[in-house]
Order: sequence, then structure tokens, then C-alpha cells
Amino acid sequence: MNLHEYQGKSILESYGVTVQRGVVVDNAADAMSKAKELQELTGTEGIVVKAQIHAGGRGKGVVTETGSNGVVFCPSIDKLEDKVKGILGGHLVTKQTSAEGKKVNKVLLAEDVYYPGAQEPSEIYMSVLLDRESERNVIMYSTEGGMDIEAVAEATPHLIFKEIVDPRVGLQGFQARRVAFNLGLSGQAHKEMVKFVYALYKAYEGCDASMFEINPVLRTSDDKIIAVDSKVTLDDNALYRHKDYADMRDKTEEDPLEVEAGEAGLNYVNLDGNVGCMVNGAGLAMATMDIIKLSGGNPANFLDVGGTADAERVEKAFRIILEDPNVEAILVNIFGGIVRCDRVAQGVVDAYKNMGEIPVPIIVRLQGTNAEEAKQLIDASGLNVHSAVQLQEAADLVKSVLS
Ligand code: GDP
Ligand code: MN
Repeated sequence: MNLHEYQGKSILESYGVTVQRGVVVDNAADAMSKAKELQELTGTEGIVVKAQIHAGGRGKGVVTETGSNGVVFCPSIDKLEDKVKGILGGHLVTKQTSAEGKKVNKVLLAEDVYYPGAQEPSEIYMSVLLDRESERNVIMYSTEGGMDIEAVAEATPHLIFKEIVDPRVGLQGFQARRVAFNLGLSGQAHKEMVKFVYALYKAYEGCDASMFEINPVLRTSDDKIIAVDSKVTLDDNALYRHKDYADMRDKTEEDPLEVEAGEAGLNYVNLDGNVGCMVNGAGLAMATMDIIKLSGGNPANFLDVGGTADAERVEKAFRIILEDPNVEAILVNIFGGIVRCDRVAQGVVDAYKNMGEIPVPIIVRLQGTNAEEAKQLIDASGLNVHSAVQLQEAADLVKSVLS
């Protein structure tokens, strides 16, 4: 599950990470009063208006309706409402979104931490993530922070450092000091960075995240180390331990079909192919997607209906698959181990009848307990449903209905 910047920052703050402070608003009318409260709290005049969407690159991104960038600096408060209106409610297109962009439902009004005058502050990149290769956590960091770390990784990979942390012993003192040293920091800034890295790692571990990316981490002119941005991904499998974080889920950022499927207890991932598939078991679902590919089609989705493929679930799954306009055929591939094939077949037939006309051909392959009875049921139903026993046979049927 991904979080918004402001949510990630609130978690960081609770672990003692210094963050750029801010307030969230969802309508322009509130912006002025909220911004004034923020100014009183921080004692700084400038305000940064930041679109809250689940995508990076907002600073360089453009709001389709207004031409505004997704992150804009507002030196004084009298321009604030206009700047907020330039972003809020619009669609922000960045390098990480589709061409339509993402609708901005909230903006973060943040304190200006780039104090004017004084020395040039430096923008640092830092992330903590799971490194599957070393089976450890890794802290990645670079002096080349700011907007485009991907370009840094491409052109000058030697400027990105890695500190691998063994989760069994946790982050060691010498490691945090090495990070600060490699970033070229000394004196107060070095001390602050060591504290920052510690707190960041503690936050990453404590909330069962799979990624924390802070770009930029700012070293201010008075040697504070501040998280200016935050991109956080939490491990869904650990959310049961974090009720308060689970409540941070923003469903408007997710694929509506996936949300609907999730609510029905179906394990569904929307893909961009033309053959919908309904399968029980994740492994069988993968194999089914492979065979669809081999037969010249492209899977439109991954869908594991789980162990209880009764008529109601089958119908729900059909409805979700059919809401995807790219679907030209549906392959149902169920192995009847615990569930009996004839029950599933009856479910398919009932669902079909309930839904009236289904506009695409359906290929049903049922294998396992009572497979024969199941096939007879399908064949006798008189519906636009083709039955198969072998997987290859099913794939060939998919091929023939598509051509
Ligand atoms: P991203 O583009 O989605 O990664 O959004 P960021 O939160 O990283 O902000 C983009 C850029 O806005 C930063 O790299 C900074 O250059 C700028 N920015 C962010 N906060 C401040 C601030 O407090 N003052 C000023 N002047 N610029 C800021
Ligand atoms: Mn950023």
C-alpha cells in the first residue's frame, strides 16, 4: 500500500525524523487560515504548495487544466489561494503517471525550509528498502538528490552509495556514521545526519515498510537535516499489525476494479490484455496466464477466486472481468480439489443466466472431482460456453474464438 507524502511525513515525525512541517487542505477556501496557522507555528513567510498524489516527479509535473506545476513555491500569503486553485481539483501529469494524470484531491501546504540567503543548501537522496538480492535491508543514498534520481543512477551510478543492514542486528552505529561521512558532512551536520539515518531506519522497520524514499533530504543553511519529501510503501501483509496505517489507504488512488474485487474477497490484478481469466489458486492462475500467452492471446487480468468458487463468487468475478472493456473472451480454469467441479459448473451456468447476455465467449476447463458431470452440465446448458478437459484444449479454444 502506498501513502501520500503528508501521511509518510506524519509517520516519520512519530519516529523522531525531522520533517518539513505542513498542513493538508482539500479545498481552497481553507487554505488561507490553515497557512496562517502554519506560519505562526514555523515563523517562516514562504509556503510551498504540494499536490498529494501517489506519484513522484510532481515538481516538474504539470496540471492539465491550469498549466501549474505540481509543487509551487509561494513567497507570500496573498498569492496562496490562486496557487492552491491552480493545483487542487486538477489532473497532474508527471513522468510517473499516465497521460491523463492523477486527480489532485488534497494539497499539502508546507513551510519553506530553503531559507533565503546564506549558503546553498544541499539536496540529498536517501531511501531504505528491501534488497531481495542480499536478503537484507538497504539504505541507498546520494549527494545528488533533488528531482531526478533515476537520471543519476543511469549516468553516474558511482554517485549512489549503498549501506546494507542485517535485520537481525539492526542498523549499527558505524554504518550511520559512514552514511554521514560519505555524504561529506562534518561537525553539526554530521551529527544530525547520524540521528536522521537512525530515526529513518527505525521508522522503516517499525511500520513494516517495504520502501521509504526521501528525496530530497535537505541540509539547511543552519545544518539541520530535514525530510522535504516522502514516498512510502507499506507491506500489505503486515497491515493487520497497524490499524492506524491501514486507515491511511486512499482508494481513489487505486484501480477501481481492484478495489471492488478486494472488497469481494477476490484476488484480482488488472492487466492490459484481451482474455479475462478466472482461476482458483495463484499458481494455477500464473500457469493459465502463460498458456493464454502461448495460444496467442494476452491475459486481461490475474484473478484467483480462492477455494470457494460458488455461484455468487463466480458471478461477481464475471462482472468484474466484464467491466474491463478490453476483454474479448473469458477462460475459466478451475481445479476441483476441495471444491467439486459440478458445483462450479452450476455456478457458472447460474451466473450466466442471472447476468443475462454475456457479450463474449467463455471457455470453461474444469478438472478434478466430478469433472465429467461438470462438462455435461456445461454442454447441456445451451449457453455460449465451451467446455474443455485438458488445458491445451482450453488454450486452443481461446485461440479459435479470438480469430
Ligand atoms: P517531487 O517533485 O514529487 O519529488 O516533489 P518534492 O517534494 O521533492 O518537491 C520538488 C522540489 O520542490 C524540491 O526538489 C525542491 O526543489 C522544491 N521544494 C520543496 N520544498 C521546498 C521549500 O521549502 N522551499 C523551496 N524554495 N523549494 C522547495
Ligand atoms: Mn521528491
